[in-house]
Amino acid sequence: MNRPSPVAPARLRPICCAIVPLDVLRRFARDPSLDEATRQRLRDSCLETERLRGLREAHRIATLRDPDRHRAEVAAHVAAQHLFDCKQRKTLPGAPVARPTAGFKTTFDATARLIEFYRTVLGRNSVDGKGMDLVSSLHYAKHYDNAFWNGQQMVYGDGDGQLFGPMYLAPDVIGHEVTHGVTQNESALRYEGESGALNESLSDVFGAVFHQWLNQWNAAEPRGWLIGAGIIAPPAQAKGYSCLRDMARPSAAHCLAPQPERYGQIDPTADVHDNSGVPNKAFANFARALGGPAWQTAIMVWYDACTRRRLRSDATFQEFAAATLASAQRLGGSAAADACRAAWAGVGLPEAAT
Ligand SMILES: [Zn+2]
Repeated sequence: MNRPSPVAPARLRPICCAIVPLDVLRRFARDPSLDEATRQRLRDSCLETERLRGLREAHRIATLRDPDRHRAEVAAHVAAQHLFDCKQRKTLPGAPVARPTAGFKTTFDATARLIEFYRTVLGRNSVDGKGMDLVSSLHYAKHYDNAFWNGQQMVYGDGDGQLFGPMYLAPDVIGHEVTHGVTQNESALRYEGESGALNESLSDVFGAVFHQWLNQWNAAEPRGWLIGAGIIAPPAQAKGYSCLRDMARPSAAHCLAPQPERYGQIDPTADVHDNSGVPNKAFANFARALGGPAWQTAIMVWYDACTRRRLRSDATFQEFAAATLASAQRLGGSAAADACRAAWAGVGLPEAAT
């Protein structure tokens, strides 16, 4: 049960629901191989991402306390989309789009496919399960190196052109941000510690599987496990970076944000984007062991674990692993359960799913 626990204001830690971790922005802002204008854009993106911290926590608590959030609507609404142009300003949602450019059309089409993915694969009607309209704002701030879910809508920057390109061009990034909204409506995982890393991981998992589904890639295709491959700017690609994160190989050198791969290696106080590599790899292990498309059994098991079983908001990796094991047994029988157990053992959590 998700019974909201009283949260004193002093306990509210700042959160950041953006796709690009702050430490990546900070690290490259100090990189002498980048020109000063790019480093300034990275510093500005860092400051803006920090400024946005905390906003989503208020939405998370409000959603958690909504007694109707799990109650199905009698007449289900069909989700519509609304696109806005921030025109490089920081006012949300921005101006309605009269004549959509290619970037808006790409975002609209990918978001429509995402709504379809949630409906046809997972049986879910949009973010809240009740057909909530999806609002996307593009061209947020100048050269902003991030995309985020602010608790109510998606927001995308244009990137600095050296490390990152436009954030709305990658379907997995769109899937990642929208899934933060789904998690907010289901388990409302607190955005710190292990629950925060699980929150981040779920966004990567559903974003990646949506990307695989779009391309009809099965779980053996390495490109299907890359997060943010479509937002890496050509100059960063020339330096050997091909993605933000790699769920199958979280510590690989081609990641702009490499992560620990085993539970014993994580620092519990590290950024949630660092520690999400462990559950990310567990999912990739599981889907690849099952074989075939990940949007068949594997994603259904993860979705079942984070919806039907109602994870606690402070869920640990161990609790989540146990929930996935129960869901694997229920949906795929002992073969799926064995694969799930082995997947968690592969990231150093052998006792988690026993
Ligand atoms: Zn995220």
